[in-house]
This record gives sequence, structure tokens and C-alpha cells, in this order.
Amino acid sequence: MALLFDSVVIPEVAVQDSDLRFPVRRIYCVGQNYRDHVKEMGGDPKSSPPVFFSKPADAIMPSGSRIAYPSATGNLHYEVELVVALKSGGSELDAHRALQCIYGYAVGIDFTRRDLQAEAKQKGRPWDTAKGFDASAPLSPIKQADSGEPADERIWLEVNGELRQDAKLSDMIWSVPEILAQLSRYYALRAGDLVFTGTPAGVSSVVAGDRIQGGIEGVGEVTVELVSGAPI
Ligand code: MN
Repeated sequence: MALLFDSVVIPEVAVQDSDLRFPVRRIYCVGQNYRDHVKEMGGDPKSSPPVFFSKPADAIMPSGSRIAYPSATGNLHYEVELVVALKSGGSELDAHRALQCIYGYAVGIDFTRRDLQAEAKQKGRPWDTAKGFDASAPLSPIKQADSGEPADERIWLEVNGELRQDAKLSDMIWSVPEILAQLSRYYALRAGDLVFTGTPAGVSSVVAGDRIQGGIEGVGEVTVELVSGAPI
């Protein structure tokens, strides 16, 4: 049986040192997973545990992309994050089983319409339009995990060469296995799932013309340029 539309494609991500590409099934995200970022957003890390939200799979963009400044916002923020790529999954995983599901790691940017998110928080509304928009998830190529798990590596982001975010992965409130275990209580995780694990402090707004570069020591780097007008 033929499909009605050829234009619907499975999003995919490059893998470092491989011709194989990683097909993306779902994108899950963690919010409020670094204490200093919770504080800068006006929250209390003790009373605000990390939260989950999601983005559509086709929100990913390869590193090196030129991305149009999104519609419907006047306050677009970057958030550099460690991204976990799964090769298997399951429900109700414990931390040990969760680690066995990991294919690799990447560096991602969780672009956020901060003005819409602030309004959604204030009115108790969903975050979808603030988080799950087109091209909101630029991603580096995936590094396979068999060369070791990230633990205390540096995570950083620069805008036009100026350092804005600089932290250690060990600053995370929930570790990677804890995130996957928690997430698997709500969803059956599967091969092809990506999990953005939260951002450290230093988030701020960017404008068309800005060049944004994020990295994690030993994992990789992601670079994007924001442009005005339609996507290129
Ligand atoms: Mn985020």
C-alpha cells in the first residue's frame, strides 16, 4: 500500500565516525535540572523538582544550519544541553537498565520562546508553543557511548564568541540514569528517542545575525546562525 504523502520523512541525525544515521522517534526534554538555572528563572531548586516536556521529532536541525528567527516571539533564548540518544528502551526502568539503553550522546540547543513560556507559566497553560516549535532543537552529530559515559565534563555556550554558559555535567540535579528511570515511569522509551537533559545557568536572548556555538568536552559541538526571514 502506498503512502498518501512522500513529504513525511523520519528525521535523522549524523553519527560521528560512521556512515550510519540515527533515526529520531521522539524528543523528550528535562527542565529545571541545574540549580543555578532554576534560581536564575526565579525558582527554588528545593521546591521545584525537574520537569518533563517534549518537542516534535522534526524540530531537530543539524549543526551548521542557518535558522530563521522564529515567529511569535520577541525573546528567543538559547539553552545548551547534553542530549542522550537511545538504542532501546522500556518502561519502569531502573538506573542500571536505563544506562544499557543509551546509544550515544550529543550536544543540543533547546531554543525557547521565553516570553511565551513566561506567559504559560503565569496562566498555568501548556509549554508547547514556547518549546516545541520548528527548528527549536539544533543538534551535534551523535557520539557513540562505547567510548565512555560523560560524567564531569565541561558544558559551555558562546554567542558571537562570547562565553555565556559554562558549567559541569556533574552540576545536574538528576543524573542521566535517573532522568531515564523517571521518564520511563511516564512513557515507554524506545530506540530512536532523544532526551535533552536540561541547561545550566546563563540563558539569555539572541537575535537575527547571532552565531551560537555550544559544546561538551569529549562529546562534540553544535553551531547555528540565526537569520531573519524565511528558513534557508
Ligand atoms: Mn531546556
